[in-house]
Amino acid sequence: MKKSFAVIGLGRFGGSICRTLTDEGMEVLAIDINEERVNEFSMIASHAVVGDTTDEAVLKSLGIRNFDHVIVAIGDDIQSSILTTLILKELGVPFVTAKAQNDYHEKVLRKIGADYVVHPERDMGRRIAHNMISSNIVDYLELSEEHSIVEIVANAKLGGHTIMDMDIRKKYGLNIVAIKRGGDIIVSPQASEMIQVNDVLIVIGTDTDIDRFEKKVM
Ligand code: ADP
Repeated sequence: MKKSFAVIGLGRFGGSICRTLTDEGMEVLAIDINEERVNEFSMIASHAVVGDTTDEAVLKSLGIRNFDHVIVAIGDDIQSSILTTLILKELGVPFVTAKAQNDYHEKVLRKIGADYVVHPERDMGRRIAHNMISSNIVDYLELSEEHSIVEIVANAKLGGHTIMDMDIRKKYGLNIVAIKRGGDIIVSPQASEMIQVNDVLIVIGTDTDIDRFEKKVM
């Protein structure tokens, strides 16, 4: 069954989520306190409504608890973001994603029950910094404070070796979860898989182990 989404706050971040979900064919209710923003999205989202989401009655009248996933993308107004998230969880919305402005905000959002907290500026900054440090790292996804998944382009040092030869699990504590080769993707590759130059290795492990591997092999 198709999932239903509601996006609260139609700034740059919420707006982008709303457009992408709609492009992907999802049912999206767009909500903002600002009428101009709502008008802008009335042709994009399935429904667009003006409303102050810190008012429980407004959220109830929209039947918000029937949505599978609600995204709180309220920007600078931290108080409204927190209050909205709290009401959504109290009303029983199954999954709430909230955008945090800073670490304190993030902490509070988690405490009051946000199921997923995003911190786009910080996360994107880290991602770009990692790409700047190593040109071989094409993408970077932080899983926790200590763990990440990275996509590493295999250079001549890695090409021509099997996963077993390199022994990266034992030597570096890392796991290759998949290999992208041309248009194909090899999920859970066998130890006997021969790595080719320009393969993109999708590697999971601790940040320290990933750093060690990068410095040694890159
Ligand atoms: P961004 O950094 O993503 O561009 P903005 O601060 O520009 O974020 O956008 C946040 C949006 O959230 C604005 O369009 C604003 O009108 C909306 N917003 C703020 N408070 C509320 C509220 N209480 N209810 C609904 N929408 C709100």
